[in-house]
Amino acid sequence: MRLSRFFLPVLKETPSEAQIVSHRLMLRAGMIRQEAAGIYAWLPLGFRVLKKIEQIVREEMDRAGAIEMLMPTLQLADLWRESGRYDAYGPEMLRITDRHDRELLYGPTNEEMITEVFRASVRSYKDLPKNLYHIQWKFRDEQRPRFGVMRGREFLMKDAYSFDIDEAAARHSYNQMFVAYLRTFGRMGLKAIPMRAETGPIGGDLSHEFIVLAETGESAVFCDRRVLNLPIPDASVDYGSDLSAIINEWTNLYAATEDVHEVARYERETAPDDRLETRGIEVGQVFYFGDKYSKPMKAMIAGPDGVERPAQMGSYGVGVSRLLGAIIEASHDENGIIWPEAVAPFGVGIVNLKPGDEAVDAACAKAHDALEAAGKEPLLDDTDNRAGGKFATMDLIGLPWQLVIGPKGVADGVVELKRRAGGERQTLPLEDALKVLGA
Ligand code: ATP
Ligand code: MG
Repeated sequence: MRLSRFFLPVLKETPSEAQIVSHRLMLRAGMIRQEAAGIYAWLPLGFRVLKKIEQIVREEMDRAGAIEMLMPTLQLADLWRESGRYDAYGPEMLRITDRHDRELLYGPTNEEMITEVFRASVRSYKDLPKNLYHIQWKFRDEQRPRFGVMRGREFLMKDAYSFDIDEAAARHSYNQMFVAYLRTFGRMGLKAIPMRAETGPIGGDLSHEFIVLAETGESAVFCDRRVLNLPIPDASVDYGSDLSAIINEWTNLYAATEDVHEVARYERETAPDDRLETRGIEVGQVFYFGDKYSKPMKAMIAGPDGVERPAQMGSYGVGVSRLLGAIIEASHDENGIIWPEAVAPFGVGIVNLKPGDEAVDAACAKAHDALEAAGKEPLLDDTDNRAGGKFATMDLIGLPWQLVIGPKGVADGVVELKRRAGGERQTLPLEDALKVLGA
């Protein structure tokens, strides 16, 4: 991609409305634009990251055996009357009336709809287990939308729903999602700690929130710092096997959000030096809630004995759009964002120091095309902005690598390669730089 053709409306000034660094950097880097309180347009740079995050979530859901589908954003109020949540949900729900005076709502979550989809066709234990998910926009009319995409009103969520015949099977589904979440966040370069959590308005009896530690997080958290060094299961993990050893390893060390924090237990179970009391960002949550929806909505399953019982359900959310903010909170410096490779909007930024100079243009085009062909997603700054401005923009948008090509270097047969994280620079022939970059 050539910057002259791209759309990257970077801001020179720091926007005054942004209170936390990720929000400031997303606005400055031209990733998002607020269209209404808590409602954002995803500009091309932000959209590329959103898609990368979404794809990692998708791959790990698929690996764990969940099946992707897509449910609509609008839902009938009557569906929510079946579970009793239409009245219970309160002012966070955006309620809409169509031209026929039918009551609709913009989905804040999808337990009711997935239960309706499921009960329409599944009757027997032989069709279980099933785990269905989608990645879809949600709307919650948050009282205090703030911190940019961190607490939006419209936001992108991955929500999965598991259906099982009994509690033991449902716990296995829960464990599968727990492991998939460890892998998902790990692949994004995040340390997301599963913490015991309250079950909140969705209800239920077993739940963990996955929390990225950050001073700017909205929840106070308490944990044993040794949890930060636990190993993340690798891609060969067998989701069909008993995963409880992994779950135990991750849940034996104390980790809880303030809502469920127990001081006495914390002091008993952690050594003073291991205590970590800080704040965190909830990037995902896993719930097992049994028959909370299947019972009132009559999603009944016949067991091997022929007796019908409500399906045992769980739900599993990931804040896909919130993750951009969480990753930036965890990975930035005073000059801008430092994207982990797996979610970077482009892999390499090429800086042309003298557009119009034939030799420099040719070297830049060669680098660009080679990197593009190798799938490294280069962004070539071929604009006639000043060099200082180009460097500042590259640091701001945080691509993992910068390849600087100018007339002096070209005359000497070299380019400069800089790693954004750490800032190390090396001067080397273009061919060698391309090799380092994998092209
Ligand atoms: P919170 O406690 O932050 O309000 P929640 O517990 O109500 O979130 P869930 O119902 O668990 O949210 O939704 C699943 C995930 O969706 C959350 O873990 C979070 O990452 C994300 N999420 C929830 N609300 C928002 C929001 N207003 N803006 C962006 N992401 C959100
Ligand atoms: Mg939650």
